[in-house]
Amino acid sequence: MPKVNFLDSKTCTLVGLVTNVALAIFKLLAGIFGFSYAMIADGIHSVSDCLATSTVYVGLRIGERPADESHPYGHGNAETIAAFLVALIILATGAFVGISAVRLIVHQHFETPATIALAAAAASIVIKEGMFRYTFKVGERNNSPAVIANAWDHRSDAYSSVAALVGILGARLAFWYLDPIAGLAVSVLIVKMSIALLRPNIGILMDERPDTAILAEITATARKVSGVRAIDNLRAHRRGSTFTIDIEVAVDGGLTVEQGHQVASEVKSRLLGEVEHVQDVMVHVNPYRPS
Ligand SMILES: [Zn+2]
Repeated sequence: MPKVNFLDSKTCTLVGLVTNVALAIFKLLAGIFGFSYAMIADGIHSVSDCLATSTVYVGLRIGERPADESHPYGHGNAETIAAFLVALIILATGAFVGISAVRLIVHQHFETPATIALAAAAASIVIKEGMFRYTFKVGERNNSPAVIANAWDHRSDAYSSVAALVGILGARLAFWYLDPIAGLAVSVLIVKMSIALLRPNIGILMDERPDTAILAEITATARKVSGVRAIDNLRAHRRGSTFTIDIEVAVDGGLTVEQGHQVASEVKSRLLGEVEHVQDVMVHVNPYRPS
């Protein structure tokens, strides 16, 4: 049996999916047998989490496909689209939590939650915060927008459960208003989180340039190649979890085409080998002109 690597994006996503399916089944059963509307609603939320995590998994599967005739640059942005969809799912969750809180205030319909709801909310906070930390680590390590989006989905679930826990405790202590207040506060937090997540993914889809630190690393690596006198131009953009680089290097004008080509090949192989997450490099050679 092959060894399972838990730091792999797909493995991490499958762990998230199993967790979400287990939580959905548990909450729906607890809601139905405990006659708790809030618990059933929470279970339906877990079903939407299963949908989000499945979206991430599909995005990863499509994203890892190699370049083909109709997609010569690869399929990496399938991951970015998946991340974008997850951000929209989180946004919907935040709106739903907010609307539920407002309806609670309007209708003044408070139910006394069962003990199982208290246990479920507490367990959900611990499990989901743990899943957030694990998933976020894997997402950062693999530079994966889809896995990072999935991580934030886990954290938004932890936040929802905090609201549920506060509401349940409030109901127990007869502070009924705690439930809608916690709901509204968490709704604002989740909506802000989803917008913060939409932003970088739109950036990737719009070919926004990567962080200056990455550009500096690319420049420094290319400069190390002997024969490179200067970097004339550098453009890089992300496609899903990887970068594509277009770079113009200046070499001694007296070099032969063969020698210039040699320098360009060396630049390409060093960038591919030494800078993390680089998928492809296009090198153009200029004659060096001191300014
Ligand atoms: Zn969720």
